[in-house]
Amino acid sequence: MIAAVIELETDIAIVGAGFSGSLLSLLLKQIGLRSVLIDRGSHPRFAIGESSTPIANFLLADLARRYNLPQLIPLATYGSWKRAYPEIVCGLKRGFSYYHHTIGQQFQPRADHANELLVAASEGIEDADTHWLRSDFDQFLAQEAVRADIPYFDQTNIEQVHANNGGWNLIGSRLGEAMTLQADLLIDASGDGGLLSKQLGIDNHPAGLQTHSRSLFSHFRNVRRWHDLYQSWGGDTSDHPYPCDDSALHHVFKGGWMWVLPFDNGITSAGFSLDPNLFPLDRAVSPEAEWAGIMQLLPSVAEQFCDAEPTVAWRQTGRIQRRLQRSAGPNWVMLPTAAAFLDPFFSTGNSFTLVGIGRLMAMLERSWNRPDWSDQMQVYDRQLQQEAEILDLIVNGCFRGFGDFERTGAMSMFYFIAATWSESEQRAGRLGRGGAFLCADQVDFKKALIRAVAEVDNPSISTREFVGRVHSALAPFNRVGLCDPAKRNMYDFVP
Ligand SMILES: Cc1cc2nc3c(=O)[nH]c(=O)nc-3n(C[C@H](O)[C@H](O)[C@H](O)COP(=O)(O)OP(=O)(O)OC[C@H]3O[C@@H](n4cnc5c(N)ncnc54)[C@H](O)[C@@H]3O)c2cc1C
Repeated sequence: MIAAVIELETDIAIVGAGFSGSLLSLLLKQIGLRSVLIDRGSHPRFAIGESSTPIANFLLADLARRYNLPQLIPLATYGSWKRAYPEIVCGLKRGFSYYHHTIGQQFQPRADHANELLVAASEGIEDADTHWLRSDFDQFLAQEAVRADIPYFDQTNIEQVHANNGGWNLIGSRLGEAMTLQADLLIDASGDGGLLSKQLGIDNHPAGLQTHSRSLFSHFRNVRRWHDLYQSWGGDTSDHPYPCDDSALHHVFKGGWMWVLPFDNGITSAGFSLDPNLFPLDRAVSPEAEWAGIMQLLPSVAEQFCDAEPTVAWRQTGRIQRRLQRSAGPNWVMLPTAAAFLDPFFSTGNSFTLVGIGRLMAMLERSWNRPDWSDQMQVYDRQLQQEAEILDLIVNGCFRGFGDFERTGAMSMFYFIAATWSESEQRAGRLGRGGAFLCADQVDFKKALIRAVAEVDNPSISTREFVGRVHSALAPFNRVGLCDPAKRNMYDFVP
């Protein structure tokens, strides 16, 4: 029999001590709210979702400054991270790189760069973004929470969640000890663990979600530099805006794409996101065998991975999309990754999460325990749903264009232009504080996006016409000289 030994009472229970839950607990403490952090696992642990972006880093630094957590500021750029925390492993990310492959054929570099797209996101190494080795990064944030005297219970299973006096009573157990936790507000930071969706029975498959992909991934040693192979095939890298491996490197092909994210410790995160219509999941095929099979279809990628060895267990998932019908109620909130996830083609998961954290913090500061709190939660839900819809449209449009790289390139401009728009919203202090992520509140942007998704794989519209239409529809939002044929897919950083 289990003896009840842990009994707690707090303002806010946070379930999930990934980067988002731990960060949020630190922020809450700074505004005088007590929280308890709970996770079913323990650090260090493997987690996917590693490539950061300028928006993610601006938001992280902004939250750290706004809530006086100076120890987090160095994590917002590569140079300061390496100086302040050399022991926390990261990788250098100067931008986004995409290479297009025709199934069964060797990649052939072209002088006009028509089968590649490089978009720089930083001026140099110092201000570059990073790939977060999540086992290190998440552990660091959980340790910071402990250092700040925030009660943290790892290896804890929440078995029951009951509404109680306008708040919550959580019942669970930790290493053989029973646990009860009374909280006024419950925050779900459990990612795909889906704590609240299960407990509250919220539908996870709303009609209308268009993106459909599944994933296959691991971490590897001995992955070769794409730059070296590219040069060995006669490619000229002199007009690449940065060394293409110092980025989130993507290999794109009909039916899916692959990410390659090198860390500084010789380990590379790599995996496929696959359209199950063309690459159906067969559980009878092992992940290794499936990986080898896809490599046979992509001979140049196979060369990059010819000596690669996995360093952690393979992950082979079913559909990775989720979008819950509701993400917040009067006394509960889901952080974005618990409420919605689309596909990592543009590394949007962590920035989306940070937008949600910033928005929630602003709402808590302004309205917690005030009469308009329920209204604020409705606003939170509405904005999150609008943002998830935009992400779904952009990624789905790209997937549908994968057979024709020029069309994918045009679709990708919706992301890059919306991202740079969000960066200026962030600089103006509006992002997550009224302003929406990725132009989700811009009616003309959404109209143009819906039209492009409808046309991207329409063979009666020529590629030239499609690209022209996208570029002119995006012109009012294009603040940094994207969509410029003279750049030949090589976009330097524009501050
Ligand atoms: C294949 C793939 C690739 C991705 N790549 C990127 C990328 O490159 N860039 C990017 O920005 N985003 C990426 N993402 C998204 C990224 O993973 C998320 O944005 C990120 O993990 C969110 O962090 P989190 O702390 O909210 O959740 P998580 O990292 O998922 O952490 C959730 C925590 O909750 C705990 N938990 C779960 N259920 C329970 C429960 N019932 N009780 C107690 N604890 C529980 C877990 O143990 C875990 O520690 C990717 C996602 C996928 C699927």
